[in-house]
Amino acid sequence: MKWAILSDVHGNLEALQAVLEDLDREGVERTVFLGDAVGYGANPNECLGVLRRRMERMVAGNHDWGAVGRTDISDFNEAAAAAIRWTGRQLFPEHRTFLTELPLTHFEREIFLVHGSPYEPEEWHYIFTPSEAAMGFRALVGALAFVGHSHFPMVLTQDEKNRIRGLRVSEVTLDPERRYIINVGSVGQPRDGDPRAAYGLFDDVSRRYRLKRLPYDWASAQKKILQAGLPPFLARRLSQGV
Ligand code: ZN
Repeated sequence: MKWAILSDVHGNLEALQAVLEDLDREGVERTVFLGDAVGYGANPNECLGVLRRRMERMVAGNHDWGAVGRTDISDFNEAAAAAIRWTGRQLFPEHRTFLTELPLTHFEREIFLVHGSPYEPEEWHYIFTPSEAAMGFRALVGALAFVGHSHFPMVLTQDEKNRIRGLRVSEVTLDPERRYIINVGSVGQPRDGDPRAAYGLFDDVSRRYRLKRLPYDWASAQKKILQAGLPPFLARRLSQGV
């Protein structure tokens, strides 16, 4: 079965549409979303409408729960907090209920889905350092997790001696002897220096994983952010991929 794994759309409708068109071209059979539908971008309701139609499974991100008051946002930076307050005011009641009820994790066909880390999902830990990766692997049930949250695509592998490596590769065939935590990057606000929308494709028969990058109309997304009165930095960063 061919999976598409999307994460961190953050209200960026232009990026989401580019990715969804690509899913049709790729002949994807299973669609999952790893959280942060909203926050930062100017189209939270539109993105939620589309995601709810097109994604078969969704888990919650910190911005999703932040926008509906289900998680504390006191550690958000000023731009992120301003965007969350704005988003909270925009959300349609039905989307608000939907976000409030989103689960933190999902486990299906040996694949674990979570926004931040398998370790304490409700604490939204990032996986950047070796010790954060080790915590994630220790908590992981099974041999494969897909994560988002950092907006930084990465393939982490753990061998039979518990040695962990981080690979910045866009294609890899998963070794059945190893465990993996794979960050699929961000659809709507990439931060790895490449402004193109990112998402992951995984074939669970061939065990081939691919990170895809797609250009989209970021000028329109930027213009909408400025028109909405959101912090200008949130517009600027889209064309820089930071
Ligand atoms: Zn995010």
